[in-house]
Amino acid sequence: KVSKADNDLRKLLSEKRLKGDEDRRVGSEVFDRLTLETLYKLAKMGHINKLQGAISTGKEANVFKGIDDDGNFVAVKIYRVGTSDFKKMQYYIQGDPRFNVRTSNKRQLINTWVTKELRNLTRAQEVGVRVPRPIIAKNNVLVMEFIGDDIGNPAQLMRQSKISDPEYVANKILEYVKILYKDAKLVHGDLSGYNILIDDGEPVIIDISQGVMVDHPISRELLKRDIDNLYRDFKKMGLQISKDQIKSKIMDL
Ligand code: ADP
Ligand code: MN
Repeated sequence: KVSKADNDLRKLLSEKRLKGDEDRRVGSEVFDRLTLETLYKLAKMGHINKLQGAISTGKEANVFKGIDDDGNFVAVKIYRVGTSDFKKMQYYIQGDPRFNVRTSNKRQLINTWVTKELRNLTRAQEVGVRVPRPIIAKNNVLVMEFIGDDIGNPAQLMRQSKISDPEYVANKILEYVKILYKDAKLVHGDLSGYNILIDDGEPVIIDISQGVMVDHPISRELLKRDIDNLYRDFKKMGLQISKDQIKSKIMDL
């Protein structure tokens, strides 16, 4: 039974076209035994047919491009158990009324963290914020809509892309922050040009795992940080908007 699974897994993973030594190293680091099993289950469910290489290698997670059974691109975010910030995860989860987790089990914390990311994405999407459509969260793996072009090039980060209409993009982002706050009762908490993709000129908000409900003890502090970061990025984009203007745009009814 195990060897059959191993075989199928090998087949699944042999399809991934990881280029270069760095990617290969990352590949083996990411795919520990339990992660492989999780990927295998997701493959059996039809969510991942192939993995096609790394889009990003972050501090705590790797994001891969995949293809599902229907031939659609998907983004597969895999949290690494070895390098996750458990203290932070614990702290953010504890103050969240949606989760009743009193554990110091690291895997369990990561799983809750991934569930939190999925639920935040769902919540954001429900109120009209453009985010990757969440597909499924399983253990330390999140599968979501791939943001990019038809041939599989991932969208660029706002921070790294040339924006043709900065004013439009900035206003859209502030509208998103506002409805996220007022309608979804969520604060992103790590919003900046590094967590906003530009897809066909449209901003798409990503990486919302640390997002907290507005009644979380640190929501105010996080919102202030988001505003500070956006202010800095908007300035870099050549916009002349003050922090107070940003604040009033977000808080305005
Ligand atoms: P982290 O910053 O914690 O490593 P992110 O969720 O920000 O994780 O993802 C890392 C990078 O992967 C992003 O900066 C972006 O370039 C890419 N990425 C993440 N989600 C998607 C997605 N749904 N579609 C395309 N690219 C994505
Ligand atoms: Mn990020």
